[in-house]
Amino acid sequence: MSYQAYEGDGLVFGVLPYNGAFFTTRAGIVLVDVGCSRATGQAMRQMVKDARLPIALIVLTHYHWDHSANLDRYKDLRCVPIVLGNDSPLLQNGLKHPPESSLFIAKERETVSVGGLEVELLPTPGHSDRGDDLCVWLPRQRILFCGDMVQPQGEMYSHCTGFSPVSNHAFGGSVLSSLQALLALPMETLVTGHSTVLHGERAQRWISVTAQVLKREWELAQKLVREHPRASTKTISRWIFDTLAWERSYSPAAARKRKRNGHFKSYDYPGIAWFVEEAKKEAAAKRCGRRGHADFP
Ligand SMILES: [Zn+2]
Repeated sequence: MSYQAYEGDGLVFGVLPYNGAFFTTRAGIVLVDVGCSRATGQAMRQMVKDARLPIALIVLTHYHWDHSANLDRYKDLRCVPIVLGNDSPLLQNGLKHPPESSLFIAKERETVSVGGLEVELLPTPGHSDRGDDLCVWLPRQRILFCGDMVQPQGEMYSHCTGFSPVSNHAFGGSVLSSLQALLALPMETLVTGHSTVLHGERAQRWISVTAQVLKREWELAQKLVREHPRASTKTISRWIFDTLAWERSYSPAAARKRKRNGHFKSYDYPGIAWFVEEAKKEAAAKRCGRRGHADFP
């Protein structure tokens, strides 16, 4: 598989197969994630050769293996300056990327200039269990690289076409705040962490549907915890999954399979359980006469 390139407002940007994206500047190519597969690496090599530019910078949208593992496979990437999100576990382990002087941690929203191109680094915690999510925003070109923040699992809430009726996020409340910040950007193009390029209204819709799914999880968590105060987090989380599967027209057979093969446990349960635990904390606080948990957006 090869890379896909687009032209927009004086720069070339595009996606590598699976989890990687790029854009060009006068100083060279900026890679946004480097993927984990050989196909991604081969396409990256081809793209660099065709562009006849060096790799100037790597930004990792988060530490997850499927976005970062090629850093170790391709030795020539190890001397490229790299930007990581706050508290990235790659700082403590795994990153065979020696020169500390070329590591940059984006703790707050900030603008950097790469080859004369204005690049904004936006910390957007919530998807990664380590809170190191980072989006890349090109304000002039109105292009957003969003990592794994946007996972609607279908074009509409009522019709899931993804692997699962829920998205895979560690901290749903933080994701909702982060998505609200992304929706405020005057975006024209959205490049997801899994190599999908979306334009205009469709880009906004993907963000909105992702938020809608999370809001529904939170609403159901509050309702079910209120109505069944003795039910376990595990039980309520399964009810929420089943309700979203039903509301989103997700196949019952696929839902059963997901529970059997462990995908529910690994990818769906942690995010739903987070909302249920928050709802339980809120209910406990109310019982003690305190105000509940902060409202999510
Ligand atoms: Zn991820």
